[in-house]
Amino acid sequence: MSEQNDTVFGKIIRGEIPSDKVYEDDDVLAFQDLNPAAPVHILVIPKKYIVNAFDAEEDDAELLGKVVLAAKKVAIDQGLEEDGFRLVINNGEGVGQSVFHLHAHVLGGRSFSWPPG
Ligand code: 5GP
Repeated sequence: MSEQNDTVFGKIIRGEIPSDKVYEDDDVLAFQDLNPAAPVHILVIPKKYIVNAFDAEEDDAELLGKVVLAAKKVAIDQGLEEDGFRLVINNGEGVGQSVFHLHAHVLGGRSFSWPPG
């Protein structure tokens, strides 16, 4: 996906709008969700523009692994190691994706039902 990333997360990556960052490295950024759905609600995104899992390629495998490892680090830093956390990626408008730059929700600090609604 080589087009300009006009999503709100593209703007956050480029520093055009502020975010409350909790983790950053060369490939991945994590920041507080603006409208938290749980006591801990952090978004982990690849800096590379990938729309969602449907847009991911074989070459993105290592990067997507880094997203999961960053989510693990964030969850541990937030004290979720004992109770656990939910890691959610919505892929497509029909299942609730509203920002079209791939992002993993790190959710924790309350109980969760299964299956998700
Ligand atoms: P989705 O519905 O696409 O899976 O999740 C998008 C998430 O991005 C939502 O939880 C929403 O609260 C969050 N969000 C939308 N706009 C912003 C923003 O400008 N800043 C931050 N930090 N989060 C945002």
